[in-house]
Amino acid sequence: MVAVAEALRVVLENTPVLPSEELPLEDVLGRVLAEDVRADLEMPPFDRSMMDGYAVRAKDVAAAPVRLRVTGSIRAGQTAERALEAGQALQLMTGAPLPAGADAVQQVEKTRREGDVVEILAAVEPGQNVVARASEVARGEQVLEKGGVIDPATIGVLATFGKARVRVGRRPALALLATGDELVDPEVRPSGAQIRNSNGYAVAAQAKSVGARVAWLGVVEDDQRRIVAAMGPGLSGDALVVSGGVSAGAFDLVEAAFAELGVEVLFTRVEIKPGAPLVFGRRGSLLVFGLPGNPVSAQVTFDVFVRAALLRMQGARAVTRRSVEVELLAPLSNRSRREAYLPVRVKSRDGRLVAQPLRSMGSADVAAHARANALAILDAARERVQAGERAQALLLANFLEDGDAA
Ligand code: AMP
Ligand code: MG
Repeated sequence: MVAVAEALRVVLENTPVLPSEELPLEDVLGRVLAEDVRADLEMPPFDRSMMDGYAVRAKDVAAAPVRLRVTGSIRAGQTAERALEAGQALQLMTGAPLPAGADAVQQVEKTRREGDVVEILAAVEPGQNVVARASEVARGEQVLEKGGVIDPATIGVLATFGKARVRVGRRPALALLATGDELVDPEVRPSGAQIRNSNGYAVAAQAKSVGARVAWLGVVEDDQRRIVAAMGPGLSGDALVVSGGVSAGAFDLVEAAFAELGVEVLFTRVEIKPGAPLVFGRRGSLLVFGLPGNPVSAQVTFDVFVRAALLRMQGARAVTRRSVEVELLAPLSNRSRREAYLPVRVKSRDGRLVAQPLRSMGSADVAAHARANALAILDAARERVQAGERAQALLLANFLEDGDAA
C-alpha cells in the first residue's frame, strides 16, 4: 500500500507533457495555455473617457458652475481633430479618447447644455473619469502565464492582445473500459443481481471535463481473454482506464490482463478510502489505470489521480483541486486507517467556511457523492473529528455553484 501523496507523486513522475498545438481563439475555451502571453500594445492605447460627458481642463472648472463653449462631439472610435483650449469643452461618449489639452471628464449628469454652450455644474480633479493611457497594462507586460486553464475571462485577454491563434496543450486521448458480468446499460431495468454501468458514463464525463478525448471501449465480462482483447484499441492513446476487477477477488482479472499486455505496474493499492485497490502502470508512453468498480471509489480515485495526470499531460500548472480548511458542523469518523475522502457540503457562514457531513452509505452511494460539493480529508491516523474541529476539504467543481438544496 502506498500513501496518497506518494502515489500521486509516482503518477505525475510518469506522466509526460504532450506536445502543444496552435488553435483559433474561438476553439480554446477550457484548454491549457501553452505559452506566456505579453501585451502587444498598451491598454488603454489612449487616455480614455470612462463616462458620457464633457472633456475639460480641470482648472477651467475649479470654480464651477462655469460655462464653456462646446467645440464638437466625438464617440468611441473617433478622435478629436483639435486640441482643447482654455474655456472650451468637447462632448464625448464612453470609450472615446480625450483630446489633447483636456485632463478630465465631467459626466453628462453634472452638466446643463444650451446650444453650443455647456454649463459644468461641479468641479473635477485632473484625471477624473479618465483611464490614463497604459495604466491598465504596459506594452510588453506579461498578461497570461502558460499552464493556466483558459476560462472566458482569459479569452477576453487573448482577444484584447491580438492572440487570434493560441498555443495550447494537446488533448489527451483516453480509452475507457468497464468490467463486470453484472453490468447492464442505463436503458435496461436490472434484474436479479444486475447493476447499471454508471462508471462508464461518470468516469467518461470526468475525463471530458478536464479536456480528454474519450473513446468508450464498452462493458466486458469478467474474462481475462475478453478483457485483453477489449483493451486493444486503447493501447495507442495516452491513457487507458479500466473500471472494476481490481479488488483482488477471484474474478479480478484486470491486473492479469495488464501483465499479459506487458504493462509495467507501479502500484496496486493506495491508502485511500474510498478506493484502496487502484492499479497504476505504464506501457511505453501509455498510462494505465485500473480503478475500483465501486462508483464513488472510481470517481474519487479518478479525481485524485487520473484527473491530475490528464491535466499534467496538457501542461497545466495546477493539477490537483484546491483544498481549504473548514470547520465541521457534525462529527466524522474514519476507522479505515487510510486517508479518507468523505462527502460534505461546504458553505460560508458568518465569514467562515463550514462543512456539513452528508449521510453516505459508502463507496457505492453515488447519490450522496453527487450531493457533496467537497470531500473532507481525514488522514489515516485521524479516527474521529468532532463537531467544531477543523479539517481540510477538497473542493469539487460544483462548489462554485450556489444551489444549496442539501
Ligand atoms: P469490482 O471492483 O469489480 O469488484 O466492483 C466493485 C463493486 O462495484 C461491485 O459492487 C460492482 O457491481 C460495482 N461496479 C463495478 N463496475 C461498475 C460500474 N461500471 N458501474 C457501477 N457499478 C460498478
Ligand atoms: Mg467486478
